[in-house]
Amino acid sequence: MQRIGILTSGGDAPGMNAAVRAAVRSAIYYEMEVYGIERGYEGLLDGDIREMKVSSVSDILQRGGTILRTARSDRFMTPEGQKRAVDMLENFEIDSLVVVGGDGSFRGALELSKHGVCVMGVPGTIDNDLGYTDYTIGFDTAVNTVLGAISNIRDTSSSHERTTIIEVMGRRCGDIAIHAGLTGGAEHVLIPEEDDNINALCRKVIEGRKRGKLHSIIIKAEGVAMPSQELADIIKERTGLETKIVILGYIQRGGSPSARDRMLASRMAFKAVELIKEGSVNKAIGVIGDEIVHFDMAEALEMKRPFDEGIMKMANILSI
Ligand code: ATP
Repeated sequence: MQRIGILTSGGDAPGMNAAVRAAVRSAIYYEMEVYGIERGYEGLLDGDIREMKVSSVSDILQRGGTILRTARSDRFMTPEGQKRAVDMLENFEIDSLVVVGGDGSFRGALELSKHGVCVMGVPGTIDNDLGYTDYTIGFDTAVNTVLGAISNIRDTSSSHERTTIIEVMGRRCGDIAIHAGLTGGAEHVLIPEEDDNINALCRKVIEGRKRGKLHSIIIKAEGVAMPSQELADIIKERTGLETKIVILGYIQRGGSPSARDRMLASRMAFKAVELIKEGSVNKAIGVIGDEIVHFDMAEALEMKRPFDEGIMKMANILSI
């Protein structure tokens, strides 16, 4: 009987549980044995591995985080660590591994594949920073969480007639900022992919006030080089308006996954198991348009999604 392993790695993302559930249940459907590895590569090195049954993944679809837990593992980064990980998989007779995580987790999987382990990457990260796929699991939920925060912050910003900078996650990727800024009606969005235009930002804030706006919301991606405090000081100096900062932080990682993330996670993890069943090796699963796709892991990690200038232009036009 074929035996596969599954782990979640890197930052947790809403929808990882839906991916674990789909992988476990589809593997069992295809008459495979499936083992859950706890705390990502760190747990693999420690042999924290247990067999999963249909009931092991009951009642988790709606839960944020990951029941397998996750970790960042320095030990796994070394050749010795990777050798130990391969030995551990051999001890448990696991020949295929589904890795749910981001760029770093996929790079780790690629290293394992060089030792003959069949790996399947399912993209689980709120940052949406994997270039081969339009969306990653957790991104949609994170954007919705930011939307909720914008709505609450707008109430208090209006009441006090303030300008508020909301700093959002995404590492070097501005997608959370763009999507939340556009759909949340922010006055301005700052992202790492574009040069900051602080003059335009201040002009917009001033013009908005002249037209009777009570507040301004500025969404700033964490990857933007200028610190939020420095930006707040500049805005206050140039506009004379009180400017507050809200760093949303880890609330963006938590919460029950959106329907869209549950669907994406289920489809991608199901595909990963199907590919293993068919004898495919070392693939990264993604979505382009509405189609579930897969690429060779090594190639996927080199792919870059071109920056969508059109969406930023639209955001600027609509946010006047
Ligand atoms: P997120 O985008 O949410 O941060 P991630 O998967 O990119 O997720 P990382 O911390 O970068 O998170 O990677 C997770 C783990 O993968 C690391 O702790 C490490 O054990 C392993 N890893 C990362 N990069 C490499 C690499 N180049 N080679 C081997 N293993 C790696």
